[in-house]
Amino acid sequence: MPNPINTEHFWMPFTANRQYKAKPRLLAGASGMHYTTDDGRKILDGTAGLWCVNAGHCHPKITAAIQQQAGTMDFAPTFQMGHPKVFEAATALASIAPEGLNRVFFCNDGSEAVDTALKIALAYHRVRGDGLRTRLVGRERGYHGVGFGGIAVGGIAGNRKHFGPALPGVDHLRHPLDIGRNAFSKGLPEHGAELADELEQRIVTLHDPSTIAAVIVEPIQGSTGVILPPKGYLQKLRTICDKYGILLIFDEVITGFGRLGTSFAADFFGVVPDMITCAKGLTNAAVPMGAVLVRQDIHDTFMQAAPENAIEFFHGYTYSGHPLAAAACVAAMDVYKEEGLFDRAASMSPYFEQAAHSLKGLPYVKDVRNLGMVCGIELESVPGKPTARAFDVFLKCFWEKGVLIRTTNDIIALSPPLIIDKPQIDQLFGAIADVLKAEK
Ligand code: PLP
Repeated sequence: MPNPINTEHFWMPFTANRQYKAKPRLLAGASGMHYTTDDGRKILDGTAGLWCVNAGHCHPKITAAIQQQAGTMDFAPTFQMGHPKVFEAATALASIAPEGLNRVFFCNDGSEAVDTALKIALAYHRVRGDGLRTRLVGRERGYHGVGFGGIAVGGIAGNRKHFGPALPGVDHLRHPLDIGRNAFSKGLPEHGAELADELEQRIVTLHDPSTIAAVIVEPIQGSTGVILPPKGYLQKLRTICDKYGILLIFDEVITGFGRLGTSFAADFFGVVPDMITCAKGLTNAAVPMGAVLVRQDIHDTFMQAAPENAIEFFHGYTYSGHPLAAAACVAAMDVYKEEGLFDRAASMSPYFEQAAHSLKGLPYVKDVRNLGMVCGIELESVPGKPTARAFDVFLKCFWEKGVLIRTTNDIIALSPPLIIDKPQIDQLFGAIADVLKAEK
């Protein structure tokens, strides 16, 4: 048995601290598709950590790149200075970004990427002389991290309720989840594209389009329980934004880097936004890093508006483009390419879909929804105890089945590393099926 550890001092994020500390779940090692617990149990990772370890854990090439960089140069500022790896990382990202989004602003995580993108949007309109555009539009059940910008445009009540209005002038569209019409859709739901028209209706009747700076959406709403865009929905948002000169931001923190079998969800949907926020798979999660991919002409507008010796955009973090993160990013991009992991995800997703939908008909399963290597399984709640059913499945999967899943409300969300193979897919869904059958 390992030594007991003192769990008292760490105030754990997004965790029921007292419940957790009464019976800690400790991960002590990781390799490929698996974690190892502190008592030596092997756990199949059905969630790529937190939607982030797309190439599998402790990839030797990424580990080596970080070790090498740590021994060469630990830190260098990127304010009025630079270092080779950060430029290499930006170039690697631009090379896989959708056409035109070839300018990269680095930060440290998804929340900072969102705040950065919102600031670029507001400043862009101001810089080009359209400073009335100050409103931002997000969506109900959207998750855009935990910064004040992110919770303002985000739409999860629990993440917002204690923190006041966060930002003024923010509106929200309805989310497109409609189990009544779309339950057990395989891939994109048929019904609901018309919900995107709400954007036009609201901005025209309520705000006036000339006041809207940007619309931000996750192509797939992940953290809130896998909400997929109905067929044609994202295309409609793009059309409306174009019509009224509004910037469209895709928050691709979970959909970036192969989750749908393409570099970005923008490629999968054939809809090019004006900015993409990303993080997580950007370094295969080995070092924290976030980024905003920006349309070149938006970037150029800043360059042209200021004298050459002036700072064009007053924003940045001490660790924007940290050498260790940049090294991990370059290595991760190489690994994705060399191992063909995005194509692998595309070719594995029909099998993943079939396995996911084999849960239909099991006790308490209300809906299964999936796209690429993402799946949501919505369960009927225990009356009067929302979240309890899914959390119970999570605990049983972990303790009894050796499988890590993730739950939000009463929804199981799965997003395994893209290296998962067919027997592991069977193991993942088999574990959930066994637990659900035993629930009855
Ligand atoms: N945006 C989206 C869509 C996310 O899913 C997340 C995290 O899950 C974030 C932003 C926030 O990222 P981070 O936790 O790295 O700040």
